[in-house]
Formats: sequence, C-alpha cells, structure tokens
Amino acid sequence: MINQDVQVHTSFSDGLNSIQEVVEAFIGAGIKSVVITDHAKGWKTKEDKTFEFFPNIERFEDYINQINFAKKKYGRFINILSGLEVEINIEGKPKLDQGVLDYTNKHGVKKYGLDVLLGSIHSESFEEDCHERNIDHSRKRNFLIENTLNLIKNKEIDVFAHPFQAVHGQFSSNFTQEETDLIIDTIIKEQLSGHKIFIEINGKRYPMYEQWSYNKYEKGELETHDVIFLHLYKMRGGKFVLGSDAHSIRGLTETDFSVLDRLSLKESEIFTFS
Ligand SMILES: [Zn+2]
Ligand SMILES: [Zn+2]
Repeated sequence: MINQDVQVHTSFSDGLNSIQEVVEAFIGAGIKSVVITDHAKGWKTKEDKTFEFFPNIERFEDYINQINFAKKKYGRFINILSGLEVEINIEGKPKLDQGVLDYTNKHGVKKYGLDVLLGSIHSESFEEDCHERNIDHSRKRNFLIENTLNLIKNKEIDVFAHPFQAVHGQFSSNFTQEETDLIIDTIIKEQLSGHKIFIEINGKRYPMYEQWSYNKYEKGELETHDVIFLHLYKMRGGKFVLGSDAHSIRGLTETDFSVLDRLSLKESEIFTFS
C-alpha cells in the first residue's frame, strides 16, 4: 500500500479524470497523500501540431484553484499537494507552457507557486532537443547523461521521475556502471548540499504508450540493471518516493511496484512530502 503517491495526471493534461474524481478515488483506495502532477508543457501530435495544456494564465490559475478547492474539501481525508511534471531540457532548463510562464512572471513565485515539482526526461522530448541542436546519434548518449545531471542539479526539482524512461527509449543498452556511478554521485552530492531531491519508483502499468520503457523489473538484462541502479542509490543513503503515474482511476491502483520487494526498502527509506 502506498502512503503517498507523488505522480498523478488529470484531465488538465493527458489524464482521463478530473481532479475531484482522482482525489475521491484516492480516498476510496485508502491512500493518505497525493501530489497532483499534470504535465507542464504540451507536445507535438502525430499530425505535427503543437498544443499546450496551459495555453494561458487563466487555465493555469484554474488548475491551482481546483487543487486548492480539493485541499479544503477533502483535507480531513487526504493530504493533497500541488505539483507539475516538468520536462528538463539538455541545458537543465524547464519546458513550460505559456500559461505557467505568465503566471510565474505575474506573481513572482518560486516553483510556479506549487508544492512539489517532478523533473523528467521523456525519450520523445529528448529526441526533439537533439534534433533542434543537430546532435547526431554518436553524441546522443553523452547528451542524455549531461541532461540527466543537469536535471538533478536543478534546485527547483524535488523528484527525478521515472529515471530510466529516456535511456530505455533511446538505447538498447542501459546506464553503464560508470554512468550509474556518475548519476548517483551527483544526486548524493546535491542532497548533501541541502537540495532535497529523490528518485521516484514509478509503478505505471497502464500507460497509453511505451509501457516497456518505464519499468519492467521482473525479467531481462536491461531491467535487472535498473534494480542494481536503485540498489546502489539506496546503499548510498538515497531516499525514494513512489508514483503511480496514473492517467486514469484504473491506473491508480493497478500498478507494478514489485521492485519494492527486491529492494527490501524500509519505511524510513521512503520520503513523504508534507
Ligand atoms: Zn502523461
Ligand atoms: Zn513522465
């Protein structure tokens, strides 16, 4: 049973259900705390059209207001936190829709006025970054590692979400030992310097696409290495957070957290945002 779910999407981005529906489903499932994390930026469709989830400030204000309303209405039953899943580009900068930018500029707030920020690199978006910067295939690997380190060093980011999605999506080999050490060293160094950033264990099982690239811990060489990565992080004293990455009410409870058993995590090794 998850105590706190740090990643859930609603119909404000590409999820199916409203904030209210999602929160009520969480209460029904007995989950004590949730961070609502819609995508901070839209993407190109197959028809090559770009769309935004938060095209204007009103839309983003509506998102924040609805979360605040849910906090008031359901606060006795569940701890609700506001958040966004922010894609971080190769240079370590966030990718944001116009409405999020305008809101931040207007109010001069940190972290877009939200409680928790997830930082992520999606394979598709990394591909776009490489294309725009004319990075050919031979240099992609180095850029992905650089992108990863820059995400970790971004002080506004609280969670490194689904850390293996991009490497699985881009390459047929996983992080090497050397890359693993470099990434984990960087996270631990950030934590020691006071930047609270945690690795997400992602339980997504029913995505709309690319299931294979998120997690599949039970078989295969690639997936086994993910467990080694997580284990090394744990041995260095790193803490985890858990995210269903649900895009619907079904995705909320039908998750795959089998890796938790393999890591034999103690409750004290799982961080809870309050
Ligand atoms: Zn999504
Ligand atoms: Zn994601």
